[in-house]
Amino acid sequence: MQKIIFGLFAFMIVCFCISNFFCIGLTDENEEIRTIKLLITSTNEIIEMSLDDYIIGVLIGEVPSTYEDEALKAQAIVARTYTLYKLQNSPDSHENADMCDDINHCQAYKTKDYAMQCWDDDVEKIKWSKLENAVKSTSGKVITYKDNLINAFFHAHSGGMTEDVKYIWGNEEIPYLKSVKSEEGYLYEDKVVISKKDFFDVVKNKYNDFDNTATNYSIDRLTPSGRVDKMTIGNKVLAGTEIRTLYGLRSTYFSVKEEDENIIFTTNGYGHGVGMSQEGANYMAINGSSCEEIIKHYYTDVDIVSI
Ligand SMILES: [Zn+2]
Repeated sequence: MQKIIFGLFAFMIVCFCISNFFCIGLTDENEEIRTIKLLITSTNEIIEMSLDDYIIGVLIGEVPSTYEDEALKAQAIVARTYTLYKLQNSPDSHENADMCDDINHCQAYKTKDYAMQCWDDDVEKIKWSKLENAVKSTSGKVITYKDNLINAFFHAHSGGMTEDVKYIWGNEEIPYLKSVKSEEGYLYEDKVVISKKDFFDVVKNKYNDFDNTATNYSIDRLTPSGRVDKMTIGNKVLAGTEIRTLYGLRSTYFSVKEEDENIIFTTNGYGHGVGMSQEGANYMAINGSSCEEIIKHYYTDVDIVSI
């Protein structure tokens, strides 16, 4: 009997040791990815912080704190996923850092001090606690497609439909980045007015073989979401994304008309249009959607899991 008790006791000790060993291993791994080395591009300084503290700074830089709680939570999960995807897929994009604060390279990031300077004294504590709550209450949550982190693109305002990624970046099909309807709550229109001469000069300056006598232009093809896919200017057929860059347009969701001696681009929405629309997410939250519903609306067939 004593032998049996001793055997059971020994077995329990072994079990305890094994489970503890795995627990420690898992915790260590998580600790590792929960620390971010961030390059501040203006000073070339690298600062280290927890992943969640970094995500709060991303939220300060990327979304208004006046957004609904569920929209802020969705943005926190999206920003966390975007960060970890980048670390997993391009770990060497900075020499000694994981991420930088350049919006065109990684994501925007602003410090708490910056936020406090921008906000009124009487509301800053409320705004800060909203952002902190959005990040802490979703801590560890990420978006996956078939058990892999997704490349969680987002943009400011879709103009009514998000864009399929294949029309924006090199024809690549990504099953979770499809075009979906997106109610935005308000119209976001912008105009770019340019003289006819400058309109043609922009293309002439870029292409040596541009036909200098050209006076023709036309929008040739729209993508299924309604954005410009191809536009002809003179003897050049250009992608909508290139037109957007050349003329500094808010989006590829545009129309063109002539008035007097000017060409007028009227754009709808703001940003590339791929993935989650931030304004659309906020509008869904106003109408009662949860952060999970928002994410599953904008990213097709994804799961939200805890790491
Ligand atoms: Zn970067």
